[in-house]
Amino acid sequence: MILTFEIIGEIAIIILIVLIFLIIFGVLLFLISFKTGKYPLPGIFSGLIDAFYSPIRFIVEKIGLDPKYFNSILVDVKNSINRDSFKKVPPKERVIVLPQCLRSIKCPAKLSSVEGIECTKCGLCYIKEFKEKTETLGYKVFILPGGTFVKRILKGTKPKAVLGVACFIDLFEGIKICEKARIPVQGVLLKTTGCVETIVDWDEVWEKVLLGVDVNEVKSS
Ligand code: SF4
Repeated sequence: MILTFEIIGEIAIIILIVLIFLIIFGVLLFLISFKTGKYPLPGIFSGLIDAFYSPIRFIVEKIGLDPKYFNSILVDVKNSINRDSFKKVPPKERVIVLPQCLRSIKCPAKLSSVEGIECTKCGLCYIKEFKEKTETLGYKVFILPGGTFVKRILKGTKPKAVLGVACFIDLFEGIKICEKARIPVQGVLLKTTGCVETIVDWDEVWEKVLLGVDVNEVKSS
């Protein structure tokens, strides 16, 4: 019996050492990414983030790095491992999900339980122009009132790729939902958070929109 406890104790210590090693390795990969702007071993880094998000973030914050860099690097890592697969999907089979907080505070649109916020293209915010242009490329655009709608949209439209804009918590959650469903995903973080009239870098969004898209081909089709 004593021997059994000893073996269990040794196994527990080995598991603990492996976990600590993996967390430290995740922190190291983060620090290399932060210093160089490159993402070594992105697949392993992504897996470590999924498994050890809280301890890695805790250590990174204790080192003194701003959490906003942490969030932004995590999204970049996820984008980098999904980019090639995303590019292969034609825009007609992609969807874009935008958060409702990007709208004008005077937005007249109503909420549909199926489609999310139904933009009337009133022109009070940039979404009108963005929606019109991306729909010309073939995209379907949804404005969502919350993260729970993401699953609904995936179920209803069955996209082959997703481009999402959101605050970190919603974006990271959405990316994980897409990865679980094996749907290539690209994400853009909001520049400001809050419930109304938030800001995103639309150039960054357009960069993702046009990944793998031959605009001339779209124009001529
Ligand atoms: S353009 Fe669309 S989303 Fe923007 S305020 Fe008007 S109805 Fe709302």
